[in-house]
Amino acid sequence: MREQDRIQLVRTLVRKLQPYIPGEQPRIKGLIKLNTNENPYPPAPSVLETVRAAVDGRLRLYPNPTCAPLRERLAKLHRCQPENIVVGNGSDELLAMAVRAFVEPGHPYNNGRFRHTVQYFDPSYSLYPVLAEMHGSVASATPLNPDFTMPTLQELRRGRAHVFNAALTFITTPNAPSGRSIPLAQLDKLCGAHRGVVVLDEAYVDFAGENAMSLALKYSHVLVARTFSKAYSLCFQRVGYFVGNSGLIGALHKIRDSYNVNGLGQVAALATLDALPCYRDGFKRIIATRERVSRELGLLGFEVIPSATNFIMAQPPKFPAAEWLKKLRDRKILVRWFSQPAVEEYLRITIGTDEEMDLFLKETRSILKK
Ligand code: PMP
Repeated sequence: MREQDRIQLVRTLVRKLQPYIPGEQPRIKGLIKLNTNENPYPPAPSVLETVRAAVDGRLRLYPNPTCAPLRERLAKLHRCQPENIVVGNGSDELLAMAVRAFVEPGHPYNNGRFRHTVQYFDPSYSLYPVLAEMHGSVASATPLNPDFTMPTLQELRRGRAHVFNAALTFITTPNAPSGRSIPLAQLDKLCGAHRGVVVLDEAYVDFAGENAMSLALKYSHVLVARTFSKAYSLCFQRVGYFVGNSGLIGALHKIRDSYNVNGLGQVAALATLDALPCYRDGFKRIIATRERVSRELGLLGFEVIPSATNFIMAQPPKFPAAEWLKKLRDRKILVRWFSQPAVEEYLRITIGTDEEMDLFLKETRSILKK
């Protein structure tokens, strides 16, 4: 088959799709990796032990198809029922499932358009528009304020009356990549105004002062997304979950792959729930490092956005952010830079260990001196 004909085998939508670009996972010796918001500390020793012990003859068998034991434990933790929980192969899988379950594909130009709309705030997680486009639905970006705070209801209403009608709205809280928190009272009002499904994506919430889990239990159209990846050092295992109304959660179970969460992931997540106090100490340590690095960057002339996450977004002085990315990389420090206009002047820096952050600050000072 000619190359030209082979390309025609792929759907037009997929051919034209700009895929999501994950942060690099380079294997460079001595590299300090501050680009994908991984936790610099390993999982609790008991988690590693439990996972190791599970690598045996049972790898032959399918895992629990509905993650029943894990959902039971999560239900106890969040004071709800297992029917209020669906577990995914990372929360990314669930975000994609939410688009498939709640949004009609297509781009109609009539009144029914909102049934086809995935709404998200700009800037936020850059996967959302890709999921909308993949589904052939309408991706609608609502701008945050220039300082990355959430506009008030009145401001949202004034600017874009349709903002509360989208079939599905993603709110990253605390926001990524800015790191800013959104006060619970403001989220509550926002959820109250929405008529479609709202997903509160709390991927980084363990590093924040408050969370919005109560809204998933208060409103039947609100789902809260959590992940074991960041705060619980389990990116490798891919386990995330949604909490919310059993009707919406039931719809997600319907479209789930039969065995969507791998067995070792389920084992690791359960063991993590047995070791929560160990992790809470780790959050405190990361928060303390975050505050120290934010202060020091401020003194060096960076404009730092206050963070409620395990990363910092900051506008660097002297050189454009893209140049800083390269200069730091030349010194074996990898941070993240996004080319989207709303954030192109900023670097996003994951909080590493204190030693890693000291090296980052040392190299930053040396770049500023040159
Ligand atoms: N939401 C946000 C805002 C994220 O940054 C990420 C990680 N890139 C995710 C969700 C997905 O995390 P995971 O699939 O590892 O659970």
